[in-house]
Order: sequence, then structure tokens, then C-alpha cells
Amino acid sequence: MASKSDIMTTADGNLSRPKEDSGALVKEQLGSPESLKISSLKNEQEKRPLHGLKLASHDVLERAQLTGRLKCPKCSGSRMFYCYTCFSLVGVAQQEIPTIKLPVKIDIIKHPNETDGKSTAVHAKLIAPDDVTIYTYPCIPEYESEKHNVVLVFPGPGSITIEEMSEQLLKRTVCPLKEPCPKRQKVDKDSKETQSAESEQSTPLQRVIFIDSTWNQTNKIITDERLQALLQVELKTRKTCFWRHQKGSPDTYLATIEAIYYFLKDYHVQCLSQQYQGEYDNLLFFYSYLHQLINKAKHSAGKL
Ligand SMILES: [Zn+2]
Repeated sequence: MASKSDIMTTADGNLSRPKEDSGALVKEQLGSPESLKISSLKNEQEKRPLHGLKLASHDVLERAQLTGRLKCPKCSGSRMFYCYTCFSLVGVAQQEIPTIKLPVKIDIIKHPNETDGKSTAVHAKLIAPDDVTIYTYPCIPEYESEKHNVVLVFPGPGSITIEEMSEQLLKRTVCPLKEPCPKRQKVDKDSKETQSAESEQSTPLQRVIFIDSTWNQTNKIITDERLQALLQVELKTRKTCFWRHQKGSPDTYLATIEAIYYFLKDYHVQCLSQQYQGEYDNLLFFYSYLHQLINKAKHSAGKL
């Protein structure tokens, strides 16, 4: 298995040879071909979710790939498309990529050991810059006072579905007897007076937290006491098409960008009661492009 330094050397040495550079990009961002071994049958099924998305043209990424790696203006790291350390675009202008507005704020908590180049959290930040914040654990906000309108997306024994979420959040707003919170009650009354009561009641959700970490490293974050008061929501029906499927994790363990995408899609339909018309598809703008690269690389390696 190639080490990180091997990969970087290969990439730098091939700046003028886009074909090989794309191979190096695939290796760096997505792991060595050995780590990509997924059975073809499973892969066939997993490819489908990315079909039929309403995506902006990938021309800009194709052009950037031909140019090759460039130095990130902030950290000087050698990058393609974006810098996963600085969360900024590299060799691609902001107006060339799609940006979208999300119906809720998204906080992503990253494990400090997560290999940055493989994290898909940065995709969300680049496509929805106004609504996405990335925190590196253990530096995370206090959510205690917001537990009536913040949820944590993570599977677990006590987790609920997106469908159940609004109702559960509303129950928290009215403050169960066991947990009196007069201060919040007052705030809620005020907001109901000033806003349309109906829309306020159907969508109490304001912020959604996702954890960006490998399956094994997640435990420390999920057991952090600052997150214990939050409702835990599970995306039960989705299967990953992530190319770096993690050993020992169920195949419902999604890449961060997939989890965000599926959450928003379900939220749109089940909580906002609107027809889904591809509003959030561009969250997968980078993801789907990289996924295609992987499949091309596997085809040429004779693995598909
Ligand atoms: Zn950088």
C-alpha cells in the first residue's frame, strides 16, 4: 500500500500528465486500489443512487484536473479542486461551482485524526458555505440550551426516524414536567406570536449535527457529555455508495456528505411536506465526480 508521501511524489511528478495525475488523485483521496476492493455485485447496486441527480456541469472539475495540482493559496499544500485543510477552492473559482441554500444549519464535528483528504465534510462546506460549519473535536459548541431544535444524526439504540423527529422536538419545546425550563417556554411563546404558528410548529428543527469520523473513532465523540441531551436521528433506509466502505461497519454507515444529502432530502419531503425536485443534489457535486473517477480507475484496472 502506497504511503502518503509516495502518492504526493507521484502526483507532483505528473503535473503535466493528467491521466496519471488522476490516478494519483484517486489514490490520495480515495485510498489505494487494494483498499477499494468491494464486490462487483454490491458495487453495481451502490452505483445507482448517484444516477439521475440534478447536478451542475462537471466541466469545471475536468478542466481543473487537466491543469493538475496547484498550491493552496492559504496553506501551500498541493491540492486539486479544493483544500481539505482550509476548506477553500483551489484552481476552481467559487462562481464556477454550484452553491445552495439549506433549510437548516449543518454542524459537522470532525475527529482530529480523520485523514483530511478522505473526508467528504469539506464538500458540504464548499457547496453550502453559509449554512455549514465544520468543528474539530473536542472544540464544539454547547448545544444544551438548543435541544428543542437541534438533532444529532447518528444511529443508536435510542435513535428516532426523521419522520418522528418534528413531533419529538415539539414535545421538548413544551417542556415535559420532569424538565422544567420556564425560560425556554417564554421564548417559544414569543416566537409563536411573531411567526406563523403553523410553520413554526411543523419545523422546529434549526440545526443538524453530523459526525465526520471513521467508524472506530466515533465512539469518543458520540459519548461526549455535551451531545447527550440531543435527540439522535437515524437514517435507517439508506445504503452507502461510498468507495471507502469501512471494515466492520454496516453498509448503512454513510459518507458524511451522503448522510447530509439523504437527511435533507427526507426532511424536505417528510417534515417540510414538499415534493423533492433535486434541490440538494448539488451537495453531491464533488462526491459524484470523484465516484466516477473511482469507477473509471477500477474499470481500467479490470476490477469491474
Ligand atoms: Zn490549504
